[in-house]
Amino acid sequence: MRRMFFRICLAVFFIAASFSGCIAFAADGITGLKAIFEPITDKAEARRVLIAIREFERSSKKWRLAVDPETFETIILPVHDTARTDDSAWKDTPFIRALEIYNARPQGITNNGVIAGNADGVFLTVDLCPSKKAFDREMFTRTIKAAGGHGAPVAIAISGLWIERHKAQFDWLMDKAREGALRITWVNHSFTHPFDPERPLEENFLLTDGVDFEKEVLETERLLLERGLMPSPFFRFPGLVSDERLHSRLKAMSLIPIGANAWLAKGERPKTGSIILVHGNGNEPDGIKRLYEYYDASTGKARLLPLREAFTGVVD
Ligand SMILES: [Zn+2]
Repeated sequence: MRRMFFRICLAVFFIAASFSGCIAFAADGITGLKAIFEPITDKAEARRVLIAIREFERSSKKWRLAVDPETFETIILPVHDTARTDDSAWKDTPFIRALEIYNARPQGITNNGVIAGNADGVFLTVDLCPSKKAFDREMFTRTIKAAGGHGAPVAIAISGLWIERHKAQFDWLMDKAREGALRITWVNHSFTHPFDPERPLEENFLLTDGVDFEKEVLETERLLLERGLMPSPFFRFPGLVSDERLHSRLKAMSLIPIGANAWLAKGERPKTGSIILVHGNGNEPDGIKRLYEYYDASTGKARLLPLREAFTGVVD
């Protein structure tokens, strides 16, 4: 699994990522990115069934982004290395069940999706919505320290506009990932992250009139792919606001919504299995203060887990 991941990353994208000092990927950018749903096998590892969820072109070749439906890990494969499969085992897998359960008819319009996992630890999610405030680098360095100094798992809910407006800070995050200090799960947080403080929730965030939902999803994925990063099959609705229509569209794009039961700035406290939500874009200093209190109370041994383990319970 990991061997495959590195093979693809090294062969295809690492060269691009190593030139991340310039955003000039236009000549070798991602084109034709679209949502698909096709059970496939990787010809090099034929016994493993994957779900191809995206197809795109790069360097005049066609590629697929696929999800391992048992582990929720994603992988990028050339189309010619994949084969359609008749094996129907994918239908009864944790990924397919999660897509159904967490996109089922929502209760209300806030915090729908998974809010905690059945695991002996917590899942830190950090939202990077568009913001003019300072990026919270210290929060990430304190997180690395709290996790024992290396390999801190963190799910970053990233908006496309934040990437475009914070180049140096985004490069810093990619460096931390390359060094292994952070193990980042990239969670899609839409591209423009619409928000108007004057409007009611029912007409706000991605429920705002005129929003092109599929474009909001795909444009952020495109930015990640062009930088050599691996999109996860997870999505966080801006403001945690969604309705039935958005969930059916999210399911059609094979993404699982990530809520939270410990939004720290709102005074919610982490419990075992909690998905913790803080903002790393300077918007919620109270949440950051409470995160540090949580780390201090954990005496340097906060058990942070990769987000996919909220579904699988796998410990690596
Ligand atoms: Zn946000």
